[in-house]
Amino acid sequence: YDPKKSGAFSPVGSGFPASMRRIRGKRIKAMSYNNENIFAKILRGEIPCDKVYENDQALAFKDINPQAPVHILVIPKGPYISYADFGQQASDAELAGFMRAVGEVAKQLGVTERGSRILSNQGEDGHQEVPHFHVHLLGGKNLGRMIKPIDK
Ligand code: 5GP
Repeated sequence: YDPKKSGAFSPVGSGFPASMRRIRGKRIKAMSYNNENIFAKILRGEIPCDKVYENDQALAFKDINPQAPVHILVIPKGPYISYADFGQQASDAELAGFMRAVGEVAKQLGVTERGSRILSNQGEDGHQEVPHFHVHLLGGKNLGRMIKPIDK
């Protein structure tokens, strides 16, 4: 997997396209969704995925490079760049369908009893590689603390 080839974020200072959008009547500068990102291609069926669950609003599949025994990606079917974009722009039906999918996948894979974690990386500080909103669902082992403490 090469993030640069898959329409993913490139490192600091990239010329990622910007556009003006309206959010609640205000003109704001926002990044535009890149239709050529790898998850858009998965949604269009142009590249395969190991699907574990699907509903009207969301698709869940195994991460190609798992960081835990259970590592699933849950993505909305609509064109949202990040959790922030999704949270602001998605309809109530999309928001609900997406969270239902996350819950269903966790139940299906039996990770909630021992414990699990969802996380969503956003932007450069968050090290987001694929610019289509996704939640990582991790489980099947002790996941340790939430994030590495900052070196002092
Ligand atoms: P991010 O850093 O954007 O939160 O994570 C992107 C995730 O997508 C990574 O964990 C990476 O392994 C996964 N990924 C990247 N390309 C593919 C792919 O083509 N198929 C699947 N199933 N996962 C991918």
